[in-house]
Amino acid sequence: MIRGTPRAKKQPTSDAQLAVMRTNVRETAADRPGVYRMLSSEGEVLYVGKSKRVRSRLMSYFRCEYPEDKGARILRSAESIEWDYTPSEFAALLQELRLIKRFRPRYNVAMMRDARHYSFIKLTKGTAPKMLVVRGASGEEAGIYYGPFVGAQRVGEAIRELNDALMLRDCRTDMKMFYSDQVELFQLSPRTPGCIRHEISKCLGPCVGGCSAAQYDERVLLARAFLEGSDDGPINMLRGEMERLSAELEFERAAVYRDKLERLEALRAQFGRLRFAVENLSFVYTVPGHEGEDRVYLIRKGVVRAEVRKPKSSKDRRSMKQLVEDIFSPDDKPTAQVPTHEIDELLLLSSWFRRFPKEMKRTKQVS
Ligand code: SF4
Repeated sequence: MIRGTPRAKKQPTSDAQLAVMRTNVRETAADRPGVYRMLSSEGEVLYVGKSKRVRSRLMSYFRCEYPEDKGARILRSAESIEWDYTPSEFAALLQELRLIKRFRPRYNVAMMRDARHYSFIKLTKGTAPKMLVVRGASGEEAGIYYGPFVGAQRVGEAIRELNDALMLRDCRTDMKMFYSDQVELFQLSPRTPGCIRHEISKCLGPCVGGCSAAQYDERVLLARAFLEGSDDGPINMLRGEMERLSAELEFERAAVYRDKLERLEALRAQFGRLRFAVENLSFVYTVPGHEGEDRVYLIRKGVVRAEVRKPKSSKDRRSMKQLVEDIFSPDDKPTAQVPTHEIDELLLLSSWFRRFPKEMKRTKQVS
């Protein structure tokens, strides 16, 4: 049985065992696409990799020149290697991701580093949700994620404006909240505000009974609508304030609002581009496979929703048509929200089509 749980450090694998592993690869592995797993003596999955040519890739581990090379370090921790073939490199890539998610192998850090290039806006769950910018969302923590974005700093600034415009909190996630309706319920006297944001009307003050739970939730819904591109309320609010100050000849203060407005508009534009990019990753993708094992992937919003053998008979074609109709529902609204469990796959697919733009020729939009 294979497992993904780390264990205590052990002695490096002996030269004799490495020789056994090498012979096994040389004599039994084939040069075709697939995924491989490096396993410890206890069956822990230490590393998962994929290759267009499994045999060549595995043999390259035994040629690592320096002991500090990543390949050499993985090999010296492993006692055995297993592999499975896949119809294509694309299928191997997907399988690799699924295995990494399942086993969380300790040496698969490169991939996590990859994801850290991106940032996401996270809306936390629980009492008085707050928005924050996170890097490389793992999809494991509860919350709603929007993204991915590049430029965490600019996104962070825009989120600050959005928080201010909607008077949402930006304090510690574990901060105790006391809604005004709770205050009555428990007959607590409202606490002295300890935060300047409530004092200067930048936060509703859910920590000091400054609003009810319903009032706060209403603002959260506005923030979500803005992030999902269906409401321009925060922008209109800032624009109204800027115009009012200009009319009152308060040009300096109006300029402050103009800058806020610009940051929020930039965020909205970034969301627009993102929605477009995610929507564009919706098509039927046919991938030629090893020895005729062609596969068809139904990809919607950057995630593989179904994988089937390329239809050969009219019966196959009919069932695929039905599948396409089920998966590509016309009433699906464009959104920048990414379900947490889909983030890794979205990143993987967008990077695949960026690296191999010619692959787009194998795709077919569903009208
Ligand atoms: S007023 Fe309270 S809830 Fe709002 S940001 Fe400050 S500490 Fe957080």
